[in-house]
Amino acid sequence: MVLVAEVEPPAPPQSPTSGVDSGEEPLVIVGTGLAGYNLAREFRKLDQSTPLLLITGDDGTFYSKPLLSASLAHGKTPQQLAGTSAEEMARELNAEILIFTQVTAIHTGSRTLTLTSDNGSAEVRYGRLVLATGASCRPLPPIGGDGHARLFRINNLADYHRFRTALVGRKRVLLLGAGLIGCEFANDLTQSGYQVEMVDTLGWPLATLLPEAAGRDLQRALESEGVRFHGNTRVLRLDRNGNGIRAYLDNGEQLEAHLALAALGLSANTSLAAAAGLQVARGIAVDRHLRTSDANIFALGDCAEVEGNLLYFVAPLMACARALAKTLAGTPTPVRYGVMPLAVKTTLRPVTICPPPAEAEGKWHIDSNERGVRAEFRTKAGQLLGFALTGAAIAARDDLAAECVPVMG
Ligand SMILES: Cc1cc2nc3c(=O)[nH]c(=O)nc-3n(C[C@H](O)[C@H](O)[C@H](O)COP(=O)(O)OP(=O)(O)OC[C@H]3O[C@@H](n4cnc5c(N)ncnc54)[C@H](O)[C@@H]3O)c2cc1C
Repeated sequence: MVLVAEVEPPAPPQSPTSGVDSGEEPLVIVGTGLAGYNLAREFRKLDQSTPLLLITGDDGTFYSKPLLSASLAHGKTPQQLAGTSAEEMARELNAEILIFTQVTAIHTGSRTLTLTSDNGSAEVRYGRLVLATGASCRPLPPIGGDGHARLFRINNLADYHRFRTALVGRKRVLLLGAGLIGCEFANDLTQSGYQVEMVDTLGWPLATLLPEAAGRDLQRALESEGVRFHGNTRVLRLDRNGNGIRAYLDNGEQLEAHLALAALGLSANTSLAAAAGLQVARGIAVDRHLRTSDANIFALGDCAEVEGNLLYFVAPLMACARALAKTLAGTPTPVRYGVMPLAVKTTLRPVTICPPPAEAEGKWHIDSNERGVRAEFRTKAGQLLGFALTGAAIAARDDLAAECVPVMG
């Protein structure tokens, strides 16, 4: 690694070389989430000698983010979720890892990054650069009131630690958002003895992903365990109320709780890439080789929009890590997303979703009974483009996955 003090003049701009491998310069990965670390692991299986540098704004602990919304019921503390320290990861990967360090600028001409930490600023050179910067919680919609100190959001282990600490001695949780993460937290909290009030602007849980019959099925299961679902409404105001909060909904209802947890969706972290002039759409735009508009810079994980697909899940990220590792090790390999059904961790009523593409033409065919709902999204010609399964119907997952049209043809 070449660290250059800030006072030194930047290296002269280089024209992009035909090959992307510059020999001595490290492969630099920004981000140590599942995308950054899995890519590093896959890469090291193929190449043990290229210098590898990982940079992260957090503490670099390797952990499974999906477990954050399924840990209370399993009695797992945030500390127990922390799998492997950055120090151990550096050893395992034969890599240098800079933690609590933000990449604040990418200089594509000189192939350098500006780093900022409590120790000040520095510059570092890269041979090739991979952005695995993840996604952040979307900004909150306008919510008035003075109760925001008791409003939490969870998108990483530190957020979860903060929430769990605030939960001590509390009983009632107000959940804003009944999407994937909101529903999983509702399931986890209620299974652990908390009283859950759930508010969503749409009519039923997982409404952007599930047809009504399947969403209502999940809603009934959650409600039978005490969750109170408030659909077609929103929180307008959140006030302090004793040692808790009071929420005012736009349907006139008022709800009391101790804490609020907002799970209102994510948006890809693209600002670093955009400021460097890389092409950005909803995510950092990459082709099937995970290459950005700059030949030396790649992206994967929650930050990357792969040929128009922006998917905040582990399965696509793993497919990208395997393909990109091969490309970076010298064998250009495109990623091809197959059919990737997602298991929602609502143990009260398991749900498996394989959403049809947003613009798909077709309709849902629903087969519903008390054991579960099987919903198939088919074209007029009968082609299966997506499906949603609840309860015992999840057993049909593999058969439907085999029949379904893959995400990338
Ligand atoms: C509660 C919860 C439950 C989930 N459950 C599931 C599930 O059941 N199944 C599933 O498939 N998916 C699930 N997901 C989604 C899944 O966890 C994510 O898709 C995946 O973890 C994203 O990994 P990532 O590495 O792309 O991003 P992240 O984990 O967000 O990592 C981003 C990294 O980039 C670093 N970074 C960002 N910007 C900078 C910068 N400028 N400088 C330095 N470092 C930077 C951060 O510090 C971090 O290390 C869940 C997500 C959540 C929040």
